[in-house]
Amino acid sequence: MSKVGIMGGTFDPIHYGHLLAAEECRRTLGIEKIIFVPTGDPPHKKNYKVASAEDRYAMTLLATAGVLEYSVSRTEIDREDYTHTVDTLLEFNSAGVTPDSLFFITGLDAMLSITSWFDYEKIPTLCTLVTATRPGWNVSALKKLPDFILSGLKVIEIPQFAVSSTVVRERIRNNQSIRFLVPHLVEIYIESNRLYKI
Ligand code: ATP
Ligand code: MG
Repeated sequence: MSKVGIMGGTFDPIHYGHLLAAEECRRTLGIEKIIFVPTGDPPHKKNYKVASAEDRYAMTLLATAGVLEYSVSRTEIDREDYTHTVDTLLEFNSAGVTPDSLFFITGLDAMLSITSWFDYEKIPTLCTLVTATRPGWNVSALKKLPDFILSGLKVIEIPQFAVSSTVVRERIRNNQSIRFLVPHLVEIYIESNRLYKI
């Protein structure tokens, strides 16, 4: 069965760090297809003004358009409840992507917080966990994770690109350029819709 990678994120907005991480993991692990899954209303991120789920979805579509190996899923956006990774993985398993062909890709910061995710104990039974290195985060910190997570975890060294959605939003507020931090069509979308100005 062909390998499928899931790249979850708030994508508020999507930037080249996300695309780089997804692509490097895809190539290294021989994954055929990456599915970007923007989160629904994020429970942890209420302390700043986020773009709507539909805007984040639209930007993710624009960022991945024309890349044959990429697609975008609405599953978390369309879910009524809070969205949990474990439910998304179960959904893909039920749709026929078996755990041995399903890869869940995160950056290092996200992987280091996995023990705070809902039902995280189940996650390694549903997929292979993959983490890309990320500037500012040390691989040695992974040691604190429980063995049942660490044993199957794939750590992928990627070119270090110190961009984050937080930085992109801050730069917009400060009237700085975001060109070459996000794909061109995403930049245009942000400008046309006046996102992240306040
Ligand atoms: P924010 O600053 O709002 O938290 P973010 O840039 O961290 O945004 P998220 O949507 O939170 O983006 O992250 C989605 C996934 O992409 C996470 O697993 C995160 O670790 C990973 N990621 C984001 N930026 C990078 C990067 N520059 N290099 C490697 N991984 C990254
Ligand atoms: Mg983040």
